[in-house]
Amino acid sequence: MIKRMKGTYDITDDIGYYQAVETQINKVSKLFAYQEIRTPHFENRDLFHRGVGEDSDIVSKETYDFEDRGGRINTLRPEGTAPIVRAFIENKLYANPVVPQKVYYYGSMFRYERPQKGRFREFRQFGAEAFGSAEPALDAEIIAYAHTLLRALKINDVTVHLNTLGDKKSQTDYATALKKHFKPHLDTLCGDCNKRFSDNPLRILDCKVDQDKPIMQTAPKTLDYLTEAAKAHFDAVVDYLTAMKIPFEIDHNLVRGLDYYTHTVFELKVSKELLGNQNAICGGGRYDNLVETLDGPPTPAVGFAFGVERLIVALKANDYPLVDPHVHAYFLIMGKQARLKAMELSQKLRLGGLLTDLDYMDKGMKGQFKQSAHKNARFVIIIGDAEIENETVNVKDQLNNEEWTIAMDNLYITLVEKLTAKNYDCEDCDHKGESQ
Ligand code: AMP
Repeated sequence: MIKRMKGTYDITDDIGYYQAVETQINKVSKLFAYQEIRTPHFENRDLFHRGVGEDSDIVSKETYDFEDRGGRINTLRPEGTAPIVRAFIENKLYANPVVPQKVYYYGSMFRYERPQKGRFREFRQFGAEAFGSAEPALDAEIIAYAHTLLRALKINDVTVHLNTLGDKKSQTDYATALKKHFKPHLDTLCGDCNKRFSDNPLRILDCKVDQDKPIMQTAPKTLDYLTEAAKAHFDAVVDYLTAMKIPFEIDHNLVRGLDYYTHTVFELKVSKELLGNQNAICGGGRYDNLVETLDGPPTPAVGFAFGVERLIVALKANDYPLVDPHVHAYFLIMGKQARLKAMELSQKLRLGGLLTDLDYMDKGMKGQFKQSAHKNARFVIIIGDAEIENETVNVKDQLNNEEWTIAMDNLYITLVEKLTAKNYDCEDCDHKGESQ
């Protein structure tokens, strides 16, 4: 038997959680006026090398690269921002009269990582990007957007970890200070950190191997190396978040693993009770130079990405209430003629917005009844020879065990009336409303 590839998984029983997350993503994105954008799952490899950075872990160690039959080098997207930036430039979205351009995406990302709890080779991200404004208010908006999604999913114990990398000059000055700090201790740091020391010293702070060493805790802080303009930007973000009542804490060692960030960087963390040590559920920041790096016009931007699998672990740990799969009506049929009638009536009910199902296995009455219970049917509708003869159906309401016989022509309207009756809250019924 052919098995699924290492680090991948099938979504079967958990599909309800994914659908709940997707529903809330679409709802909350509308609240913040972000439009969905969909880009291909594979891109030219150079996009990630130039966009994400050669020495980032995801590009140097984790991409899925393959040559296609035309000799092109493709990469399965390991993250969403570089493809969105490419699409922004290629589709000239910068010329769109709507500014800033605010977009969101949802879909699979691929990284060749060592699979472990909460780490997969194919996983899903929900992300958002806003292009065209350098206003710190937009940084605050995007953080509020991420925070609101978690609230919508009833995850309330969330902290925003906030830091700033400042502008170019702040980053250069900070890198010099970091080098001075780490230089005498290089022999205590891991091999990767020794490499980072010469390539990109900021990255040392992001090291998962060395993160708990005291030398990390005493490292210089970005806030002490900001230019005046960078400090004003950061202070404004803090003021906006405070006004919006988004709880945050400043995290001096937060630098994020990707090369393109400038100014604000942030992570949203949920409690360790929900997610253990892998409790960063969303990460993001400002990236004012990436559009230009990828040959677009200079365009400031800010964005975030959520790991959907971690969101789902958090939802489960939090007992997020799912609606059980159900149908409104399930037909129990006796005989060929009854099947014909049930096919006709079920189509009418479906066109009228009722969730409807029937037997396709030629099961006996008992077997069909069991199926109706598996499907959580509210109404069981019985059709046999007598019903065909009289043009009636026998309906059993499973909510209160009432049973009645009605004309086939009245079936639809009767079910709708019952479903919209007061005190019955039908999650996905089109006919909802306090109509009686
Ligand atoms: P990043 O793009 O590395 O900033 O990651 C953003 C979010 O995606 C993280 O906070 C994780 O929740 C999630 N994530 C990253 N890598 C993986 C992975 N290999 N498997 C599952 N989720 C991941």
